[in-house]
Amino acid sequence: MGNIVAIVGRPNVGKSTLYNRMVGERQAIINDESGVTRDRQYGTSNWNGKNFTIVDTGGFVRNSDDVFEAAIRSQVQIAIEEAAVLIFMVDVTTGLTDLDEQIAAMIRRTKQPVLLAVNKVDNSQRQLDANEFWSLGFEHTYFLSSVTGSGTGEILDALAEFIEEEEEEETDLPRLAIVGQPNVGKSSLTNALLGEDRNIVTDIAGTTRDSINTHYNKFDKEFLLVDTAGIRKKSKVHEDLEFYSVMRAIKAIDESDVIILMIDATLGVESQDMSIFSLIQKRNKGVVILINKWDLMEKETNTARDYEKEVRRRFEPFTDVPIVFVSALEKQRIFKAVEVALEVYENRSRRISTSVLNDKMLTAIERHGPPVHRGRVAKIKYVTQLPIAYPAFAFFCNNPKHIKDSYKNYLENQIRFHFNFTGVPISVFFRKK
Ligand code: GDP
Ligand code: GDP
Repeated sequence: MGNIVAIVGRPNVGKSTLYNRMVGERQAIINDESGVTRDRQYGTSNWNGKNFTIVDTGGFVRNSDDVFEAAIRSQVQIAIEEAAVLIFMVDVTTGLTDLDEQIAAMIRRTKQPVLLAVNKVDNSQRQLDANEFWSLGFEHTYFLSSVTGSGTGEILDALAEFIEEEEEEETDLPRLAIVGQPNVGKSSLTNALLGEDRNIVTDIAGTTRDSINTHYNKFDKEFLLVDTAGIRKKSKVHEDLEFYSVMRAIKAIDESDVIILMIDATLGVESQDMSIFSLIQKRNKGVVILINKWDLMEKETNTARDYEKEVRRRFEPFTDVPIVFVSALEKQRIFKAVEVALEVYENRSRRISTSVLNDKMLTAIERHGPPVHRGRVAKIKYVTQLPIAYPAFAFFCNNPKHIKDSYKNYLENQIRFHFNFTGVPISVFFRKK
């Protein structure tokens, strides 16, 4: 289920400001071409126990001077089609504008909940001015100041009410998704796997609201290939928009167990790839990296090895990830890629018994204990794997707060050393015994 919340509205109303507040950290990324820093446009957030992915549509407008209203309307349209909840933001200091009215007209008819956020209500005078926006006729209208944070708690409370609880995953068949930037070779890989002969598509299983899962059952391998573009064939305009491709990627990640992340060998790892990778990690999904179009590369003795090293460096600190060099066009190593993805699926489902886990981990802890923190020592008594869909481990100890991240990393590395969790993010928690 894609719990995507999209913030829409015209430029400068304060969308990124609210976004940054919701995501909690400023996730600056470097734009590949210009080298300028811009904020990441999507991230995960949690409020009142509900998890969701938040998308700042404004982040997709690269240069707000040459934004056409048509482009903004097109983004709103995509957000309407793809998001579970919409936050429509307006600005009290400018009052209601024509473009606000146009966006309101588009949004008013949608099925999903819309929260009208009247922003920049920093003081009581503006509180009065804000009443003008009731005329837009949205049932859920909130006055807030994204800069000071006043009123943001209320709108988040309302938002959380509309977010569906994450369902426990049914794990009958592995769900794989192919994700990557436009032109990286996703369709080519899909076609190469499924073949021109569509008869091998045995049925359309598990059709959800958002996607079609193709049941693959060939060469002893069985899985569902999640295709979020499956149901509605989008217009060419949509296909070309970075915003649309990102929305699709977020959905595919939410709906799958393992993501096949494709990178174009001729371009290398770009910031957009890193954003997707980081989302996969935050969502605790498995990942395989495919370096596609390997046929185009000039190869010398160590080309693959050096290339792999560089890719791993870009994805630090999560480096325990399989990397496969493929050519979707020439069908080189594509079945290897599937095999590896299914191994990652196994790793993600791996459950370590408490006795085996303690046997290995308590030895590792004895050898290298938590460092002393302000004269106090945290003592870890035992560890257990939590009974959830992805690998998560709880270490029980007397002073959980005194354990530093560096020690947490040590424990994660030890888990990875003793057990095979390649391609899968691991969560480590400390709990008071
Ligand atoms: P976006 O284009 O919609 O993403 O807008 P930004 O988040 O970039 O904000 C545009 C400008 O409005 C920036 O200068 C912000 O600091 C300012 N701004 C955002 N929220 C508020 C607010 O609640 N009060 C005030 N006074 N200014 C705000
Ligand atoms: P998508 O947008 O990610 O679905 O990418 P496509 O599958 O449509 O591929 C985009 C272009 O890259 C097409 O012209 C493909 O023929 C080409 N392409 C895809 N995979 C490979 C590959 O492995 N090697 C080469 N040389 N070209 C490829």
